[in-house]
Amino acid sequence: MPRSVSATAEPDFSLLERLSHAVWVFDIDAGRVRWANREALLLWRAESLEDLRQRDMATDMSESVARRLRQYQADFERYDSRFSESWTLYPQGSPRTMLVEFSGIRVAGRMMMLCECQGQLQLDADTLMRAEGLLHTSAMISMYGEDGMPLYRNPAAREKVLDPSAGWRERLLDPQDAARLEAQLDQDGQGRLVARVLTRKGERWHELAARRCRDAVSGKSSLLFSEMDISELKEAEARAHYLANHDTLTGLPNRHYVMQAFQALLTRAAAQGLPTALLFVDLDRFKYVNDSLGHSFGDQLLVQMSERLKGLVGARAHLARLGGDEFLLLLAEDEAESAARALALAIREAVARPVRLGGMEVQVTASVGISLGRDGEQDIQTRMRHADLAMYAAKDAGRDDVMCYTPEMGERARARLSLENEIRRGLENGEFLPYYQPQVDCGSGRIVGAEALVRWQHPERGLLLPGAFISVCEESGLIRELDLRIFREAAHQLADWRARGWALTVSVNLSARQFTHPSLLPDLCEILRQTGCKADWIELEITESLLLGRDQATLQTLTALREAGFAIAIDDFGTGYSNLGYLQQYPLTTLKIDRSFISRLPEDAAIAELVITLCRLLKLSIVAEGVERQAQLDWLRGMQCEQYQGFLCSPALPVKHFEELLD
Ligand code: C2E
Ligand code: MG
Ligand code: MG
Repeated sequence: MPRSVSATAEPDFSLLERLSHAVWVFDIDAGRVRWANREALLLWRAESLEDLRQRDMATDMSESVARRLRQYQADFERYDSRFSESWTLYPQGSPRTMLVEFSGIRVAGRMMMLCECQGQLQLDADTLMRAEGLLHTSAMISMYGEDGMPLYRNPAAREKVLDPSAGWRERLLDPQDAARLEAQLDQDGQGRLVARVLTRKGERWHELAARRCRDAVSGKSSLLFSEMDISELKEAEARAHYLANHDTLTGLPNRHYVMQAFQALLTRAAAQGLPTALLFVDLDRFKYVNDSLGHSFGDQLLVQMSERLKGLVGARAHLARLGGDEFLLLLAEDEAESAARALALAIREAVARPVRLGGMEVQVTASVGISLGRDGEQDIQTRMRHADLAMYAAKDAGRDDVMCYTPEMGERARARLSLENEIRRGLENGEFLPYYQPQVDCGSGRIVGAEALVRWQHPERGLLLPGAFISVCEESGLIRELDLRIFREAAHQLADWRARGWALTVSVNLSARQFTHPSLLPDLCEILRQTGCKADWIELEITESLLLGRDQATLQTLTALREAGFAIAIDDFGTGYSNLGYLQQYPLTTLKIDRSFISRLPEDAAIAELVITLCRLLKLSIVAEGVERQAQLDWLRGMQCEQYQGFLCSPALPVKHFEELLD
């Protein structure tokens, strides 16, 4: 307990009067000397105690000194502290540096400071400055004995330390930090460390530098510490680390994190003999949502989906967002394969639940690819590639599906990639060109037009049909360039035919994949301008699947194309969803009855008949595709079908042969 002279009354200081060194009591709250012995009055150059008591020490006291005094007061209260400090007094304005011992004393119920002067320090100016610097610096300087207990703390250190009597080891939260620093000191006589430290402000990050030295007072070997609070820096660093490893939108770990943490998890699972499964989840119609509803709704959808995934996965698996609409999950458990399949199905169900976005109900599905660690593969990059390939296989299989990786998927992907590169090269070298299949008037048998069908004159493999490359063009986006290329060739050819007196029309296929591309119409018009071809000589063929979305963009594009003068045909009619209702809603001109219905003629004619009747009602013209036999043509004639294409007349031909046929 701090010495307490009396609870309330003025204590009797007469004993202190006898001391030969200066002693005074400083009233911290009042900022004045409360009592002083004779020696102290001399020291302070005061005529009497009354004179000294009159002096208001608080007025020109610096804020840092005032704060220090308040802290000393609290320390006296809590720890009964006692310490010495060099202290510069300014009796009547002239400085005198004394070594003073401070302790707490309770006077009239309040904690005051008992100051015992231990002598004047005869310091040269340089040392004095240094001592002052030590007093006022914000760096924490402390000295500890060999036993690790504190010998000295400068005011900044005293202000921060939670328990002034604590040794340096006790202040470090992690005992391993103490061991580390000790090892450095043993080896080099000095050490440096960033550690969690207990302070009055709670746990903080301090950078500590310690070195062995000699205590100048006792001559004993001791440790000199300097410390800086670097918590803010550390927090900024932690924040940067978090940001580098997390996706800010969903708060999920990101790709950067996956590459490190998932690799470590895979390696650990392998060491424990645990099977693993990596699940690659991709939302199916996300791009559509993003494009049609805007990015902010796209973001909302992603957040909702990631919440669903988090809820589903819980602590069972590790979940990360790779970017875009791709998520990755890692499972490591005994029955990883069946667990992964079950989880994938649960994910599919969870994702498929409708989402409300801006008052609209939106539904997306998920394709999931799974890589099982059966073959002992533990490299995260390889496992991710496998899961990714399996996910693509699921998409290929019609989306909203789950697939496990098999080695064949890898081979197919490699083959596709090399094909894609070859297509690029082929496009550069002008190896793609249209062949023309005659479109024949059923009644007269005259050739009235042609369909331009792309062929690839491959330098090694010879002539290739669209089935060998169209799907890769669509996946890679090359289809846009290919379609425009064929359109340009056809327009150029048609202008030439027209100039030579053949009043033909030409049909050109357009892939659904690029149909709503904003520059489609301008691009087509520019080609017409360059070739001198007219839009109303050309029919654009699109597939039924395009109309199913019933979205505004498709309708707008179709309307614009129609207004520009192009005829529009639905290709392969009847093979898609055959929702006849939508036909009315779009500005179409022609239906092409799919070959599969024609091939059944004349025996099985129900569907062909229905389609022809429908076209009559909707005032659409009809083209029958794939007519190979005379009996089929006879039936079509009987139904007053307008035109046909098929091997009965001719397959698609190069220009020269097509012209011979025209003649
Ligand atoms: P499609 O537009 O329905 O073209 C008709 C396909 O049926 C052509 O196949 C044609 O050669 C074939 N065919 C025509 N008459 C008969 C017949 O009597 N019997 C049989 N068995 N087949 C017949 P091809 O040329 O292999 O084209 C296949 C598909 O590739 C086309 O189907 C079309 O969807 C697509 N395609 C062709 N050229 C292009 C193009 O320039 N751009 C795009 N995006 N797709 C194209
Ligand atoms: Mg076609
Ligand atoms: Mg067709």
